[in-house]
Amino acid sequence: MEKWDDWVELDPQSWPKRVEKHYQLVPTICFNCESACGLLAYVNKATGEIDKFEGNPKHPASRGRLCAKGPATINQIHDPDRILYPMKRSGPRGAGKWTRTSWPEVLQEFGSRIRKAIQQGRGNEVMYHVGRPGHDFIMDRTLQAWGIDGHNSHTNVCSSSARLGYLLWHYADRPSPDHANARFILLLSAHLESGHYFNPHAQRIIEGKMAGAKLAVMDPRLSNTASMADYWLPDRIGGSAGHGENHPR
Ligand code: SF4
Repeated sequence: MEKWDDWVELDPQSWPKRVEKHYQLVPTICFNCESACGLLAYVNKATGEIDKFEGNPKHPASRGRLCAKGPATINQIHDPDRILYPMKRSGPRGAGKWTRTSWPEVLQEFGSRIRKAIQQGRGNEVMYHVGRPGHDFIMDRTLQAWGIDGHNSHTNVCSSSARLGYLLWHYADRPSPDHANARFILLLSAHLESGHYFNPHAQRIIEGKMAGAKLAVMDPRLSNTASMADYWLPDRIGGSAGHGENHPR
């Protein structure tokens, strides 16, 4: 880490000439899924721009490892369609006409519309939709204080069914089991390669396997996860309980 303020790499474009590139490495987080793996932004000291993202080896969960989406974060930085300012529709819906507006104007307009709806008893017309709700619960509490049940997020179609199961089972909706020290690991459906927290979990599941743990995967597909299993239980939806062979390998 003591080298992060002036990280030196050779410019591959200039090879075989040895041209040094100097970077400042700034720790940040990948938010392309909920694993929130640690990234290092390589800030080019000559241009002040981020040239690339790599895994942060000091991050306690991901430990420097990323899936393909982590380094691809650079595409979000340079995306020409990235929305940099609040935009207001200025033509008919679907016409693709937008005008730049300011945050004070946005807050004023939203605030007055919400206020009017509540005052006129139309609270059920107010909905807050967010991609990733996080853990602060501030919006939940605000909406509840207004007497409105209007908090929505993509979680409804993502992790909520799994998390409800966890919550009812052991009162933690996002557990991180100690896979690395387990002796037997049972995964139901997609996990290792595609489920929640798959990067931090997958690397520890493999560590557990390398230390002798047995991995059982219940999944109708021979998924990448199932392909790593000692026991694949390809249950058939709607079939009898005894369908399918277990495949000890
Ligand atoms: S698993 Fe991949 S997409 Fe998810 S946070 Fe880590 S690097 Fe990003």
